[in-house]
Amino acid sequence: MKRIVRQLCFASTLLLLLCGLSAAQSAPAPAQHKWALVIHGGAGSPSRANMTPEADAAYRAGLREALNAAAKVLDGGGSSLDAIEAAIQLLEDNPLFNAGRGAVFAADGTNQLDAAIMDGRTLRAGAVADVQHTRHPISLARAVMEHSGHVMLIGAGAEQFAVEQHLEQVPPSFFFTERRWQDLERDLKKKGLPIPPRPAGAPPAPQKPLAYFETPGAHAFGTVGVVALDKHGNLAAGTSTGGLTGKRWNRVGDSPIIGAGTYASNESCAVSGTGTGEYFIRLTLARSICALVQYKGMPVQAAADEMIHKQLQAMGGDGGVIVLGPDGAMAWSFNTPGMFRARQQQDGQAEVALYNDEP
Ligand code: ASP
Repeated sequence: MKRIVRQLCFASTLLLLLCGLSAAQSAPAPAQHKWALVIHGGAGSPSRANMTPEADAAYRAGLREALNAAAKVLDGGGSSLDAIEAAIQLLEDNPLFNAGRGAVFAADGTNQLDAAIMDGRTLRAGAVADVQHTRHPISLARAVMEHSGHVMLIGAGAEQFAVEQHLEQVPPSFFFTERRWQDLERDLKKKGLPIPPRPAGAPPAPQKPLAYFETPGAHAFGTVGVVALDKHGNLAAGTSTGGLTGKRWNRVGDSPIIGAGTYASNESCAVSGTGTGEYFIRLTLARSICALVQYKGMPVQAAADEMIHKQLQAMGGDGGVIVLGPDGAMAWSFNTPGMFRARQQQDGQAEVALYNDEP
């Protein structure tokens, strides 16, 4: 009898021990990190002189709305990837920004959308280029990362994959905005190129041209990007864009090129860029910032300034970046008259800024 009791006791102790162990394994890691978040809505020539008060207020509201959406995800313990997707979906739907609805037009009158997302924890990444029917290119980029076994899909193949993934498809006229169409007409006239017919389903041309508030000839800003650090200490980066007005030959910029316009690694930093993409590609700009942080031990602000104000500047390039370190250090840097931007840390105030004379 004694032996049986002893054996039973031994078995139940073992059971308790095993239960304890497996509970410890399946329990979520304690949230030790404070979340942080930086957003951009493109770099270019917004200066107080060429922005109306209404446009100024509308851009700030759009940035704040995206910031709040991402902050809500992070505050609730959600992942940096989820926060980025939530914020970028809103910016893609906002006609003010050059991503999704409101994207700039290529010379043939189509909107050719590019996007990328990268997970700093695993270094997994997904990207798409020349997408013309998917409402949220950022979600397609994420689906590429999570379900395709590849990093980058383009054109018709990317569109086919989007359908297979049941991502929302829209007619091309969904992305149409009069303001971007008139940007295209001006651009093509200047280059002496033919103006394509208005896209099927677009509203009829207005009687008189819209007033516009961008410096003619200057880089058309509006690309969107988000970098986020979640409570679990994971960094991620995402970027979405229509590219450059009047682009030809299926030109692809830096935004969907991992290491150029988008990069994230928990070992160094997360970056999203905006500007004339060719320079960002040639400088592998986003990855270079993270390499300076990782291998030279530079603070994120110094690394961003090195690439923007020295390397990019020396090449004659224009644009900016947002950067986030694994410790929550936030940075932005740009060599244009303005960059639409916003940031917030857990327990901190939201900051929204447009011009280069704002902190
Ligand atoms: N970087 C984007 C591109 O070159 C454009 C932009 O950021 O405004 O496609």
